This record gives sequence, C-alpha cells and structure tokens, in this order.
Amino acid sequence: MRPQRPQSYRAEAILPRRSNLGEADRIVTLYTREYGKRRAVAKSVRRSKSRLAGHIELFTHVDVYLAVGTNLDVLTQATAIEIFPTMSNDLDRFAKASWAAEVVDRLTLVGEPDPELFALLLATIRLLASEDERRSIHLRQFELHALSRLGYRPHLESCVNCGGGLKEMVNQFSPGLGGVMCHGCDSDGAALTISPSAIKVMRWLESQEIGAAGRLNSNAALDAELERIHTACLNQVLGGMLRSASLLDRSRTHNAARPV
Ligand SMILES: [Zn+2]
Repeated sequence: MRPQRPQSYRAEAILPRRSNLGEADRIVTLYTREYGKRRAVAKSVRRSKSRLAGHIELFTHVDVYLAVGTNLDVLTQATAIEIFPTMSNDLDRFAKASWAAEVVDRLTLVGEPDPELFALLLATIRLLASEDERRSIHLRQFELHALSRLGYRPHLESCVNCGGGLKEMVNQFSPGLGGVMCHGCDSDGAALTISPSAIKVMRWLESQEIGAAGRLNSNAALDAELERIHTACLNQVLGGMLRSASLLDRSRTHNAARPV
C-alpha cells in the first residue's frame, strides 16, 4: 500500500530539474525515495539570504520537508545529505547526470514511489560524479536497468519479430518492436544494425549490479554503437528526444576542442 501523505512530509530526494518562477522562486522536480516524483515551489530561493539555496543544486541528494499544496507542494526545508561538486564544473559529468535524471523524470508519473529506481538513479549519479572515467558505459547500464524497471526492457534473447534464434553475426535492432531482430527479417525502416558484441554487452550489463560496467572491456566504437541503440530505444519510448541530448552534444564538441 502506498504511504499516506500527511499535510507536511519528509522525504529523501534527488533533484532532476528546476526552473525559475517569478522574481525569486524556483519550481523544483524532486524524485523521492518515499513518494516518487513530486513538484514543489522553493520560495525566495534566489534571494541571497535564502537558507534553502545551497541545498537544492541539481542532482544533490537531499533530505526535504514539504507542505502539501493544491497544485504544487511547498519546499519548507532542505538539507543536503550528499553533494556532487564535480558536476558543476565538468560539462560531460553534468550532461550525463542530466540525461539519467531526465529519463527518470520523463518516464515516471507524479506520486508513484519506486525505491529501487531511486536507488538506481542515486548510484548512477555517484558513479558519474566519481573519479571513474567510464561514464558512458555506466550510463548505458543505468538506461538498461531503468528501462527494465519501468516496463520497457529491450528484448535481447531471440528475434523480437519472428522468434527465431540469433546468429553470431550483425543483426538488427528495432526500436519500434523493442528488441533485436534477426538478419533474415525485413527491416521496418527504422531498424539499426547491431553487432554480436553489442548484444552480449547489453545482456551482461542488464544482468549485473549497477557499477559493474566499470569492469567491462569496451572500446570507443562499441560505446558509440551502444549509445546509438539505447538512444533510439529511449526516443521510441519517450516519443521524442531527450532534452539533455543537446547538452551531451555540447559536451562532446567541448571535449573535441580541448587541447591534448
Ligand atoms: Zn526474425
């Protein structure tokens, strides 16, 4: 049974999104362990004396008190449990964390708790903020786990179209049908090619605990292939692109321009 929400309540949250409201307020989207997604107003938080301000940075793991409002709740107290300072000065980390947070934000409804999804997002943000440079593959593992939890697990065991076995060769991935399609089946026009290695890695990532991706022997070509397939899969599920896509593109351009 879902916990009953009293007039004011406390929750452990991550902040996937915030926007300005009026002169001094912000609207924050909170993904909470106890109550799922919530939207709240943080009043006067853009004024210099605000006690809340430092605690509601994006992706911060935070302890919050909220008062139930008619449309939006009101954030009355926030205390950071864990901050991720590396996010604010590293565009790649920031873009990837935005991507993960947006997946959760866009694929969940307000007020549907899923503590495991909360734990998955938090673990992923920690990995993205850490020294571990294998951020792409960590993000791919997050996507597979999140899609599975939310009921959009890609089918990887056999051909999603004809049910036949998959040969050790380049096959297809159909975002529309939600899985791998054998070489023999006609492409639905939107199908991408998928290598045997990519299928194996996707199966492995799905079966392993979050964080295990750091042990994977991957390479840039495989990383790019997985990103292409996962992004097509997410775009299909969301019915459009993630807003964070442009941020990721910017971070790539930025990295490419960096002197070596
Ligand atoms: Zn087939």
